Parts: sequence; C-alpha cells; structure tokens
Amino acid sequence: MSHALTAKLNPQQAAAVELPAEHALILAGAGSGKTSVLTSRIAWLLSTGQISPSGLLAVTFTNKSAKEMLSRITAMLPLNPRGLWVGTFHGLCNRMLRLHHRDAGLPEAFAILDQAEQLSAIKRVLKLLTLDDDQYPPRTVQQYINGHKENGRRAADVEAWDDYSRQLKLAYEEYEKQCNREGVADFSELLLRCYELLSYKPEIRAHYQQRFAHILVDEFQDTNRLQYAWLKLLAGQNSAIFAVGDDDQSIYAFRGANVGNMIDFQSDFLVKHVIRLEQNYRSHGNILDAANAVISHNTQRLGKELWTQASAGELIRVYEASSDFEEAQFIVEEAQALIRDGMAASEIAILYRSNAQSRIIEHALFSAGVAYRVYGGLRFFERQEIKHALAYLRLMANPSDDNALLRVINFPTRGIGARSVEAMVEKARLEGCSLWQAACMGAAGRGAAALGKFVSIIDAMRNQIAGLAMTDVVRVMLELSGLLAHYQKDKDGEERVANLEELVNAAATFISEDENNLIAFLSHASLEAGDHQAGEHEEALQLMTVHAAKGLEFNAVFLSGLEEGLFPHENSSKDQASVEEERRLMYVAITRARQRLYLTLAQSRMLHGQTRYGVASRFLDEIPQVLLKYLNRGYAPSSYSSAAPSSFNAAATAKPVAAPKKSTPEHGLAIGCKVEHPKFGLGVVTDHEGGATGNVQVNFAQHGSKWLAVAYAKLKVV
Ligand code: ATP
Ligand code: MG
Repeated sequence: MSHALTAKLNPQQAAAVELPAEHALILAGAGSGKTSVLTSRIAWLLSTGQISPSGLLAVTFTNKSAKEMLSRITAMLPLNPRGLWVGTFHGLCNRMLRLHHRDAGLPEAFAILDQAEQLSAIKRVLKLLTLDDDQYPPRTVQQYINGHKENGRRAADVEAWDDYSRQLKLAYEEYEKQCNREGVADFSELLLRCYELLSYKPEIRAHYQQRFAHILVDEFQDTNRLQYAWLKLLAGQNSAIFAVGDDDQSIYAFRGANVGNMIDFQSDFLVKHVIRLEQNYRSHGNILDAANAVISHNTQRLGKELWTQASAGELIRVYEASSDFEEAQFIVEEAQALIRDGMAASEIAILYRSNAQSRIIEHALFSAGVAYRVYGGLRFFERQEIKHALAYLRLMANPSDDNALLRVINFPTRGIGARSVEAMVEKARLEGCSLWQAACMGAAGRGAAALGKFVSIIDAMRNQIAGLAMTDVVRVMLELSGLLAHYQKDKDGEERVANLEELVNAAATFISEDENNLIAFLSHASLEAGDHQAGEHEEALQLMTVHAAKGLEFNAVFLSGLEEGLFPHENSSKDQASVEEERRLMYVAITRARQRLYLTLAQSRMLHGQTRYGVASRFLDEIPQVLLKYLNRGYAPSSYSSAAPSSFNAAATAKPVAAPKKSTPEHGLAIGCKVEHPKFGLGVVTDHEGGATGNVQVNFAQHGSKWLAVAYAKLKVV
C-alpha cells in the first residue's frame, strides 16, 4: 500500500512523505508538489497504521483547499471524512470551541459574526460610548480590534498612551463585554479564544497534545503570529509538525502573516528535516522560466530555484489592447477559441489584481453568453456597495420601490432607527400606499427630522438629473446619497470606492437606444447580476483575484491588467517591501498556469471615471523577451530590451494606439518619448500641441496622464 502511494513521487518527495514522526519543514517553490506531498503523507501515515484518523490534524488555507484535500484522501483510502480534523484555522478552532464551549466561556450554540455583522456590533458599541463616527470610523475600530486579537492581545493587554488610544481601548473593552453578553464570536475571536482555551486549561491541552501525533500545515508562509502560537500550543512532546510552504508565495503580509514563522519554526522546534523540492510538475519550461526570472528581482528570499522536465512549451502570449474594453473582448474571444478546441472551461482562469477589474470582464463574458464563476469574492453587481448604489438609482427611477427604499433608508446612517421604519411600514399598510408615500407623510417623534431629510435627498436627486448623461446621474447619486463620502471615510473602504467609481465607468460606456437611460441602465445591471453564475458543477470559466488563486492550477491562465499602478498596485509601488510583496503575487499568478499563459494589458483604461493611459507593468519587463510572443506586435515598440534588468523600459509601450501620427515637434518630445519630471517621476509622452512653446501630454507611471507646458515642466528625456 505504502509503495503505491509513493510510487509516483520523486525521491525527495517520497523521502518527505516517509519521514519519521519528527518535525519537518518542506520548503519548496510553486507547483513542486508540496500539497501533494502533504496529502500523500496523511494517506501514508494512515495506511501504514502509524496513526488512526483521529490522531492527526491538518490545516489548509481556504475551505476550497480543505475540501479538495479531504476528497483526495478519501479517494486514496476508504474513510469517513467526518472523523478527520482537516480544515482551515478558523474551522478547526470552531470545532474545538464547540466541543469545549463551557471551558471556553461560550454558550453551546454561540453564533459566529461575519465581517459585516462584526461591523454592526462595533457600531452599536461606538454609539453607546457616544464616540463620533468621523473620529472613530467603525472600520478603523474593527481593524484595531482584529489586529490586536491576531497578535493575541485582549483589551486589557493593550497599551493606551493618549486620549485617542484610550478611547479605542475602551471601545475594544466594551465590544468584548457586548460579545460575551450576547454569546457571539467574530472570526479572530475563534482563534484567540481557542488559543486561550489551550493555554489556560492544561488538561484540555494535554488531551489534544497526546491525541494529535501529527500536525500538518499547508501554505505555512501565510500563517500569522497567533496561528503560529496556536500550533505551538497544540504540539506536545510527542507531536510532529509537518509544515510546507514557499517564502516566495507569501502574499498576506498586509494582513499580518509573518514569513519569519518559517525561520522561527526551525529554531523553536529544532527542526531536523528540512527538505527542498525543486522540480516543478505543473508548468511548461517557458512559464517556469518567466516565474523564476521575475522572482529573482526580490532581495528578501530564502533562495531556491525551480526546474522542470517538461518541454519549454509555448511562448507566453502578450496582448496589448488599446483599451480595457478591448482587453476584455480579447480574453473572452480567446477563451472561447480554447473551449472550441476542446479545453474544459473550468481549466481556464482569468486573474486580476483588484476586484474592481472583474466588472468589465464579466460584462464581456455576459455579452458573449459564456458561463463563468467568480471565486473568493462577489460578482461585481452583487457587491454590497454596488447594491446600495443601485438601490438609490432605483429610487430615483421609481421611489415606490419598497425594497430599494428599505435597503438604503438608513444607509449611510442618518438616524432613522428600526422603530421609525416599523412605524412607516405600518402606516403604509394601513393607507395601502408605498413606503415612499408613507415617508412623505412624515413621522411623529424623534425620527421625523431624519425621515424628512431622507425624503428631501431623494427628491433632490430626482430633480437634478433631468437631461443629464448617465455618468452624471450616477455621480449625482454617489454625492447626494453620501455613499461615496461614507466609503471614503473608511480606512479600508478603498476597494469599495474603486467599485463605486467603476460603476461610473459602467455608466460611461453604457449606450442605450432607450429613451429612459436610467431604467435601461438598471435593467442592464439586474440582468448582469441575474442568475448567470454557473452552478457548482457546471463547466464554467474561473474568475478570481490573484490572491484567491493561491494553491490552484489551470491549463490556461489569463493575467490581465499588467500596468503600473494596477499591478503593482499603486499603493504598493512606493517602497521596496511592498513592491516585493507585489512581485510575489506576480510569481503566484504566473505559476498557476500549466500549458498556456496570456499576459494582457491595456493602453487606456477607465479609472475614476476618466480615461487613463497606462504604462506597462515593470513585471512584464522582468520577463526575458525570448519567452514572450507579442500577439499584436504592431503595438510593441522596438525599444523593448531583453537586456534591461528591470523597470521602466516597458514604459514605451504606453504609446496610445489611437494617437494621431504627428511629426516630431521642435522641442523634441515626440510621442512615445520617455521622460522624467522632478515631481511626477517617469512617464511617456502621449500627445503634444502648439509647437516649441506648447504643451505635451505625459502619462506618468504613478500619477496618470497630465498636460504640461514644455517651457515650465522641466522634463528630462531619459
Ligand atoms: P503551490 O505552491 O502552487 O501550492 P504545490 O507545491 O502545492 O504548489 P501541488 O499542487 O502539490 O504543488 O502539485 C502541482 C502539480 O504537480 C499537481 O498537478 C500535482 O498532481 C503534480 N505533481 C506533484 N508531484 C508530482 C510527481 N512526482 N509526478 C507527477 N506529477 C506531480
Ligand atoms: Mg499547494
């Protein structure tokens, strides 16, 4: 039996699977079989009778990978998967807390608060403490609380040194009390509570330490401090920890993950077995060479190389679209061609750096009638902020839309409490009218003023939009509703703001034959939001962010939006450490592909409701030119240099396709010329006007497109 399990493995993998029951670290690059080795080891331990199913615990990063691991194990061995402790950190902690709820100080049926529920719980606390939303944005408080919990700190352990931090600490204390009173636990609480259970209850700790002779951890590079501390508590004298990870794929530092855990693990546990796997079984040579080349630009690495026996395979296809719209079009047509040639749709992934990018791709897929599924996130029109925005638009079109009204009557918060809403619903029922009509009749008591304000906001919106273009309609709604301001105030509302701006873009590109633009736009939105998400088992294209793609693999991968500011993300392109994290993300993205990889970029893209001319991502330039095949060579400038070590050589690709053919002006700053500005940094000239003393339009990598007067701009040709 054991032979059958290891027969397909290479000697290093087999050695790892059959290691003695001692601590081990498998440090290996993407696609080298880490997850396969971990799964095979579980099967090997069970099938050789070294442990019973209840004697092991395995942690994976996502529910999807936990499910996959369970099905792989049960495919190898006839087992009841329920008896196995295989799951995510949260899942396993939850299981333990349910079993020992009394010792953990929780009611038997304690409820788990998701992020949104936690946020509303925090809002109640802030209200109770009369802390001002502007000064103490609920999301900031949420991050503060979760951040401390993830570092193992209760409110009582937190230091406060000034009035502001004292108030935050107080909010944390109150929040703890409220959760305990209500018997609920948020996500970070599951881990912290379980950690405390094991530290304060020696008999429970001893039980699990004896029970779990083997603890196996996948994606170890992305564990945070508390998760690591939890593992340390769980591992007793006789337990062996088997950790697999890849420092080059650490992509959650922004959420507190700590690659240092891999180094600490070796010293804390005196790890004897460190095995490196260097053969990649996933990707063809060219794809792997590209990944290796990109990651070699990072300085903070533990150092390892990957090789493959597979042939070089196809070149990596690069497509430079003239616009984001055309980029999406290309991806969809190409994916359809692959499917026609026999590739399963589920073997094709479309990856993007930021969630907001999915909208335009979803639109193209929808228009082409291609089934797709979005992983690790909601489809564009299902996202909370978009639904709120659409509810306002619906009210503008028809104020008697009760569902829309209920959704936003008190969002952003404007002091209309549940009681006022109930009274309004009752009034509407008695009068047989819509909620809007009931609201217009006014209310008695404390809620009256707030309700009046809501009515006047909607009225103002309706009055202002007559004759406006759809983009302006959306803008008016975002302003007057207070939605944009609400999310802008949130410390981590950035993605939501980006999505709202993407809605402006959607409106900008929406052309309707219909007289009534607004209604046509709304039906377009609800159709796209409709039931097109493919079912669980239906063949469908896979859409996801690069983060969500970790650990997965596909025959063909489209990596879209390879432009400076998008990937690397503009917030992460300033300092070295953030750029290195973005580069690891790029490494993860490239290594998801087995046979075929497409890298796409757009020369112009709608951002914040405006067209911006993109500069090719520095990561594209870090891939040796010999590995690339330009599908539309016409747009790629000859100045692409394979010898260039890094960065901005690719900037010249920003030459807009649609740029008129102008002769070189007297000042010499021709279209396509690379320049440096003392304040805006590097950029590419995209247009010019007015002769020697005229203006040039420059597209800056960090600051977007600007018109500058040549005489004053101090532009240096680089
Ligand atoms: P990642 O870093 O992306 O999580 P990984 O190191 O976990 O990757 P796996 O997902 O385990 O890698 O394996 C990558 C692919 O290689 C899988 O399709 C797996 O079945 C295959 N594979 C692994 N080892 C071998 C082997 N010895 N022979 C053939 N195929 C293998
Ligand atoms: Mg893996």
